[in-house]
Amino acid sequence: MKDILQRLGIEDINPGAWAGAAIAGDTGEVVTSYSPGNGEALASVRLAGVGEYEQVVAAAQSAFERWRVLPAPQRGEIVRQMGEAMRTHKDDLGALVTLEVGKILSEGLGEVQESIDMADLAVGMSRQLFGLSMHSERPGHRMYEQWHPLGVVGCITAFNFPNAVWAWNALVALVAGDAVIWKPSLKAPLTAIATHRMCDAVLAKHGFSGLLGLIIGGDADVGETMIADKRLPLISATGSTRMGKRVNQVVAGRLGRCLLELGGNNAIIVEPDADMDLAIRGVAFGAVGTAGQRCTSTRRLFLHKSIAGEFTDRLVAAYKKVPIGDPMHADTLMGPLIDADAVSMYTQGLKDIQAEGGEILCGGTVLDRPGHYVTPTVVRGRPDMAIVQHELFVPILYVFEYEDIEDAIKWHNDVPQGLSSAIFTDSFRRAERFLAAHGSDCGIANVNIGTSGAEIGGAFGGEKETGGGREAGSDSWKAYMRRQTCTLNWSTDLPLAQGVKFDI
Ligand code: NAD
Repeated sequence: MKDILQRLGIEDINPGAWAGAAIAGDTGEVVTSYSPGNGEALASVRLAGVGEYEQVVAAAQSAFERWRVLPAPQRGEIVRQMGEAMRTHKDDLGALVTLEVGKILSEGLGEVQESIDMADLAVGMSRQLFGLSMHSERPGHRMYEQWHPLGVVGCITAFNFPNAVWAWNALVALVAGDAVIWKPSLKAPLTAIATHRMCDAVLAKHGFSGLLGLIIGGDADVGETMIADKRLPLISATGSTRMGKRVNQVVAGRLGRCLLELGGNNAIIVEPDADMDLAIRGVAFGAVGTAGQRCTSTRRLFLHKSIAGEFTDRLVAAYKKVPIGDPMHADTLMGPLIDADAVSMYTQGLKDIQAEGGEILCGGTVLDRPGHYVTPTVVRGRPDMAIVQHELFVPILYVFEYEDIEDAIKWHNDVPQGLSSAIFTDSFRRAERFLAAHGSDCGIANVNIGTSGAEIGGAFGGEKETGGGREAGSDSWKAYMRRQTCTLNWSTDLPLAQGVKFDI
């Protein structure tokens, strides 16, 4: 473990503010990052305060002035080199993700791969920041739109994707011409430091150190200062709906822009004609993968009555075989929860479920070993249970039965969140019914694929209390730029639009 930290430049006590180089601060509280897999201390960070935040913003603003006029394809080339840096350090960075947040090693490495893929995607985008051109109604006039950088973007990230969520935002924002200040979760500060150092080293070679800033501080001081800061035209925030509502309120109060990626409450519907082997694998990965700590984790399962018995039996049998343990071990499929609070959410959640008549079919236990391990749990419930409306960020899966697909779709949509959804069916008609305008109301809708594991090429995000943001692929880059509509008059007259006359 120590050698991984050393190779990534992580010290015993790391500074909490970075504008390229570390910004020394000696008054902040020191917080230690513990590995959720065994409770061991990894390293500590001295939290930054508002004073250091100011220095990070100043550095980003200054670098932005030069960065925004660099041609976008040249910005893309620098982002490509960041992707190369992450490629070179993928094994160590992926291992650090696993050590710090407890996801299994193949997922830790997969997360870094996602960031590398994002760099590749952003490089392509850097030559495709297209605007449209329109036909003017006035003779001798040309009309078109162009996209300009926004400024210094604030990026707030959740603990569960401590590297990739930043990459979704920052790498696209960089090719768009922005500077980015990152406020990571205090549950995963070391991955942020390692990522920041790696990417800033690339920027430094090109004279742009400080364009990416990192500020590791408390929500009440640094977080609140950041979201209220008028110098940051866009705040991209990933995390709980509770956090998103606060961020949205403050940013809207200053008429800034928000890009919100918040909680999910994702469901899979399994039709009688579904390929059951496929569906069981899709459900198991969706619900057990990352110990149920993905925004896209499967939390609700709607089974057609005719297959519910067999499906549930097979799923429970599969759950009982899940190897739980050290996330660094190659055979492990489920690691720990992030911390003791998450274990409390699990135990309290199960109590609330049982109080409403839910029946635990398997799992439901906390493992007595160092770290924060629980067993993946399947619960038989009813869609109208009040607790089903909430995102429990732990591996608890509700199973419900239905007879009519119309009921399944209605219950599926009857939650406040709207991130990811799926149906397993071999029927073309049923699949299209699910994808139709009156089908799934989520930002992501899959057929014969589970709810988690999205590819970066598509726009990622969800509706309702998931926040409405879209990140990563497709035209998500538009969120990081400002649109300008330009009209050029090359005639010798000055005709007014809509036929208005104003001759003097
Ligand atoms: P969280 O809401 O506790 O924290 C997220 C981030 O918000 C942290 O960096 C935290 O420090 C910051 N924050 C909290 N209050 C703030 C404030 N007042 N001002 C500024 N920053 C503030 O979430 P978490 O426990 O880290 O992550 C789990 C949650 O994130 C789940 O709800 C999950 O569904 C969601 N999530 C969503 C997506 C998505 O893309 N939709 C992706 C990953 C995680």
